[in-house]
Amino acid sequence: MNNEVSVSITTGDNPKDAVIKGINNLGGISKFIEKDETVFIKINLTTITGFPSNVNFNTLIEVIKLCKTAGAKKIYIGSFPFENLSIKDVSDELGLKEFIEYYDSELVFLDNSDKIKISKEEKLKLQNDSFKEVEVQDFIIQYPKIILNTDKFICLNQVNVHPLFDIHLSLLNLFSCIPFKFRKIFPKENAVKDNIITDQYKKKLISRILDIYEIKKPNLVINDLFYFMEGAGPFIYKDSKINPIKYIVCGNEAIATDYITLKILGLNPKKNFLMSHWIEKNIGISNLEKINLSGENLEDINLTFKQCKKRIEDIYVQKLNIKKGQICSGCFLQSYYLLNFLKTFMLKDLNYLPQCSYLIGTNPLEPDSPNNIILYGDCAIKTTEKREFRTIEKEGRDIKTLFLKKAIMEKKNKKILEVPGCPPNLQDTLNIFLRYFKKSNLPALNFYMKKLNKTKKNG
Ligand code: SF4
Repeated sequence: MNNEVSVSITTGDNPKDAVIKGINNLGGISKFIEKDETVFIKINLTTITGFPSNVNFNTLIEVIKLCKTAGAKKIYIGSFPFENLSIKDVSDELGLKEFIEYYDSELVFLDNSDKIKISKEEKLKLQNDSFKEVEVQDFIIQYPKIILNTDKFICLNQVNVHPLFDIHLSLLNLFSCIPFKFRKIFPKENAVKDNIITDQYKKKLISRILDIYEIKKPNLVINDLFYFMEGAGPFIYKDSKINPIKYIVCGNEAIATDYITLKILGLNPKKNFLMSHWIEKNIGISNLEKINLSGENLEDINLTFKQCKKRIEDIYVQKLNIKKGQICSGCFLQSYYLLNFLKTFMLKDLNYLPQCSYLIGTNPLEPDSPNNIILYGDCAIKTTEKREFRTIEKEGRDIKTLFLKKAIMEKKNKKILEVPGCPPNLQDTLNIFLRYFKKSNLPALNFYMKKLNKTKKNG
């Protein structure tokens, strides 16, 4: 294969036609897969909901079939899911293992969640056998050996909107080649103000995404936007919509494929955080402009779509009044998922909740009342320690006086819910909500969390 960077934009009546055309435009599947090679197909496998949070199975089937026609010896398929979900959970819920086996391929339980009832020693051995430790900047992460060892690596990425990076690019898909715990970003400790001004969270996140991409670059990248989730995003059914855009973008290089994908969606790659970082750091925009483009004419495509809300205070959730201070991308992103989760899965529960003030960031705005205040994140907790609403005045007996005279006493306000973390994680936050507002008031959340908590140990 020569080093020319090639990308193809295709459309069709269905994803099957579009993906076949796309790969043919790049020279056909045999240009990527040789006889008797092993292949790993990295898909989106995020939650126990189906498509488009996860891969489009129609496209996946076609890619499997193409690999088979090229003579692939073995086809592995996999990804790590969101937060503490295990692959087994997602697979059991969606019947994924059986589905993939039906197409003579193998769903890889990268997290070994299919191995139950094994001893600690066996678990440790399995861990050592399955992962290679890789140093990423000053951080050791575990990368699955099976991805490193397969002959060819395909990234099949379902494109949807994304709250921080505009759309779910293939670089984000490749980021979930590693377990969620290694994708977590912790801004520098004790430097809250600095963290926010310089947005340490976003900087570190982008660096880590690009570092993971460098560990093993895919040979073939397929950005599938035949069906594209616009609006709030794929986990959020309430304010989202599937838009049949009917395009698939394939390429032999992830950055170039993402670059063209942004362009066909009418987005400026230079303004995309991930892409602009890459352009600055590595190759310069001129190289990307030399992409060998085939298929549909980029200039003729004029797509528009509804993006995610970019300001947390613009997300309306019944019973929550958002009082924002200065925030960084960490609290924005986690809060985005939390607020939209509440809107989607707790619609009924919200009726039982009292009106709450949701304070987020450093020096947030004043709460509406001293009752039911949610302090989201370490910044909100720390910078409000001395605020008036932290204490309430109550009539009591003054023990310093001889006859315990009646007096107005200052007491700690107990109607405050602190959600610690920098940023807080979604599952912990939901558990804190359950404890504070009581399970009986949140039946839908209680039901959901029973399922989610069961898998926490596998994260
Ligand atoms: S608590 Fe939130 S806003 Fe503050 S530095 Fe951490 S992630 Fe950023």
